[in-house]
Amino acid sequence: MNIKRFFNCAVPVYSCNLKCSYCFVGQKDLSNRKDLNATLSPELIKQAFTTERTRGRALINLCGMGETLIPAEMIDIIRGLLENGQFVSVVTNCTLTNKIMQLCEMEKQYKDRLFIKCSFHYEELIRTNLLDVFFDNVQWLRENKISYTIEMVANDSLISKEKQIKDIFQSKNEAMPHILESRYIADDSFRRLTNLKAEDHQQAWEKYDSELFRAQQSLWGEKRSEFCMAGELSVDVDLKSGCMAQCNTGGKQIGNIYENLDDPMEFCAIGSNCPTPHCFISYVWQGLCGNIENIPYATYDEMRNRKRPDGQEWLTPVIKGAFSKRCSDYLTYSEQKKQVVNGIMSLYYDNSVPEEAYMALKEWMDEKLSNEGIRSVVLYGFGRIGKALKEVFDSIDIKVVKIVDRSVKESVGLYETTDIFWSHVADLHSKADAVIVTPISDGQGIKEKITDKNPYLKVINILEEIQYIV
Ligand code: SF4
Repeated sequence: MNIKRFFNCAVPVYSCNLKCSYCFVGQKDLSNRKDLNATLSPELIKQAFTTERTRGRALINLCGMGETLIPAEMIDIIRGLLENGQFVSVVTNCTLTNKIMQLCEMEKQYKDRLFIKCSFHYEELIRTNLLDVFFDNVQWLRENKISYTIEMVANDSLISKEKQIKDIFQSKNEAMPHILESRYIADDSFRRLTNLKAEDHQQAWEKYDSELFRAQQSLWGEKRSEFCMAGELSVDVDLKSGCMAQCNTGGKQIGNIYENLDDPMEFCAIGSNCPTPHCFISYVWQGLCGNIENIPYATYDEMRNRKRPDGQEWLTPVIKGAFSKRCSDYLTYSEQKKQVVNGIMSLYYDNSVPEEAYMALKEWMDEKLSNEGIRSVVLYGFGRIGKALKEVFDSIDIKVVKIVDRSVKESVGLYETTDIFWSHVADLHSKADAVIVTPISDGQGIKEKITDKNPYLKVINILEEIQYIV
């Protein structure tokens, strides 16, 4: 069984039974914001995440801002996703025994595709007297053949406690925890959350011999400028609003999982427009997804698995097999598609458009419109993408009949307000061969609305068309 895409889903729960100093909810002082918690609909989430909509089997990662398993509906959400045939991973502090037990009671075919990321928060487990509960719950997972990993955040306060921590893991007959790099998120630098020099920090945490930690160090702090498949192989989802962004590092919205539920979701790579100083979640984006080609990187199973002293492994065979591959093993873009996508995304991210990307965009539009006999168009959306397409259409003799945009306040000459557009869209097919829809975040919704009002009119949604480039 293969994983074609990764969905990183933010669960809207800010409550937690622990209070870790390095947790980003604490860093942003959100732990008392119960008003931010929201109830989710398991039925709607199940409907949104069918394998048809995700264009193949995906790994859906569920991670709360606080403790993921607190919301009453979480078990139903997890079950629904597994029933859909998806892989599911859950980030948890592994202290809510009743929820862990409910996962353990699921049918084998579902447990085979379930992966639990148990975050080991040593100081809080001691303070709350939940250390044994944590390890008992891990044991429940293991005995019920659910894949898990144990990881610990590389926080300065834990360095001096190395011996106590290792003694506990040994006494529990457990393999040592993997180490997750800590990061400061109160600003956009995403630097390490440490007061030590980088070498001292690395030296301290290398003592756990964690492939997860080593892999993160290999790319930490390096700005990426290559073509990145985030947005295609991996996306970030806010489960409350449904907004789907290309990357959780400041990537822009490319859709909403709760809209157009009868259609497959649309994906589009971010290209060479990475918005962040460094790829700080590279262990997923590179390790599991393979978002950037030709970067030597550990596979996800190498970073998640461990062998216990008794020889048992943390990952069961189905998860281990799936994690040993990358999403990029199953989907890559042609050079032409990369150029077109990079052109569109450079415009979307307000970056300059490379000459070759502009030329590819022009050739693509020319070929598409001439194949379909389109000689005149209405441009819907006149941001940077709309403006670039106007220039392209002028250069290939496609007549732009009207330009429609929310920013147009008065219909004059070529420009038309959205109100006027919607008032006469029903007979627009007599004035133009097609409408070109350029907004990326809600293009499909606009297309469906136009088609509802005028089924005779050809509508080309740019983001949708990108899916068809081979
Ligand atoms: S390089 Fe990393 S951080 Fe940047 S867009 Fe790609 S996956 Fe996201």
